[in-house]
Amino acid sequence: MVDAALTANIRREVSKLQADIDALQTNDVRLSAEKLQHQLEKLNDQLGSLSTLAPQRSTEQDGEKLQDGNNQQNAQHVRPKVKEMSAEVVDSNPYSRLMALQRMGIVKDYQRIREKTIAVVGIGGVGSVAAEMLTRCGIGRLLLYDYDKVELANMNRLFFRPKQAGMTKTEAAAQTLRGINPDVAIESFTMNITTLQGFDAFKASISDGDGTSRVDLVLSCVDNYEARMTINQVCLEMEQTWMESGVSEDAVSGHIQVVIPGETACFACVPPLVVASGIDERTLKREGVCAASLPTTMGIIAGLLVQNTLKYLLNFGQVTRYLGYSSLTDFFPTMDIKPNPGCSNRLCPKLQAAFQRRYNSEEAVAARSAAAAAAADADAESATHEDNDWGIQVVSDAGPAAASGTGTAGQQSGLAQGLQYSLPVASMDLRDLQREAVEDSTEDVDDLMSQLQALNAQK
Ligand SMILES: [Zn+2]
Repeated sequence: MVDAALTANIRREVSKLQADIDALQTNDVRLSAEKLQHQLEKLNDQLGSLSTLAPQRSTEQDGEKLQDGNNQQNAQHVRPKVKEMSAEVVDSNPYSRLMALQRMGIVKDYQRIREKTIAVVGIGGVGSVAAEMLTRCGIGRLLLYDYDKVELANMNRLFFRPKQAGMTKTEAAAQTLRGINPDVAIESFTMNITTLQGFDAFKASISDGDGTSRVDLVLSCVDNYEARMTINQVCLEMEQTWMESGVSEDAVSGHIQVVIPGETACFACVPPLVVASGIDERTLKREGVCAASLPTTMGIIAGLLVQNTLKYLLNFGQVTRYLGYSSLTDFFPTMDIKPNPGCSNRLCPKLQAAFQRRYNSEEAVAARSAAAAAAADADAESATHEDNDWGIQVVSDAGPAAASGTGTAGQQSGLAQGLQYSLPVASMDLRDLQREAVEDSTEDVDDLMSQLQALNAQK
């Protein structure tokens, strides 16, 4: 379907541009550098206005019902932005079901999600779905990072459509996400963060003017070891909490992991954990090797990742530090991974020491006991609450993980059942670890030693 007015508009712009180029070529007076610069800027502006004609077209057609069923992209109706999230129960309210979480007593103030900024690195099978979920949840701002293009080979996964093949993943994702929820501010960064330049650009993009982080959380949805190490480095430098995610090469298992610099293991502290398979991640992207992928596993891992993100951002439930998933046995091991005092990243032990100081400070100890007392009071109160229309029950904080014995928050001396490191641990030199760890707490070394011994015993 060709829009006559649009065609005329484009023709007019193109002929203006052509006339200016002609004038530049036939100009027999040598142009000064300054004039040339001016001419170039003018041409650039003209090109810019030409390229904005295409988006204008879809805006003009918003609200019109296109007869062409294949043209779904242009047919998407972009609703007006809403000023405040409303809990009003009407069909036209995009947030009524989310705000109902407050009425159900799950979340205290759901609207705080609009103040949150999330960086999603890697817009593939997991990242694109995670970005869509966050968009539908009404996140305030999303930063999207990828250098790849959409390919037809991606169509076994969710989110992207065949007609987006050839577009950059960031561009295609931004287009779709803006259509889904115009309230979300979307910034897309088409870059490879593992290059030197990419590293700096990535770090700058999540920094505020004063060098502190402007994001609440970084989600790693990348598919290779180098990109994870890059995210780890940037997040250690920025003291930025991030969540790692991964799906195995055979497409049937995956995991998510929370990394809080200094508090939990960073990505360099211990070899990455995988569920029930020992594939070396660095072999994943070999030339000619095609890893398998399933939309189901990717969707499940994206769901687990965003669920943990929501709990972390809106402060409800228990934020799980490590959660694995094996689809063949429907097995979900959880565990905590303590930071390694002998971590190969030099920043990490410094942050560990700083965390220990904060954690053991008088204020922190007092705050924890006050919180525990308040929680105990709340428990006692809810137990005697008579007005319980919804029949809501309070269940044990320990959750099902404790019941099944697959590892809980307290488990650190070994890996939870069914988990193993994805890289061989033989290369870790125990004496080096001990030497480097001497100045730190000896308790951590003991833990680490028993961890390694437990591992060696398994072999
Ligand atoms: Zn570390």
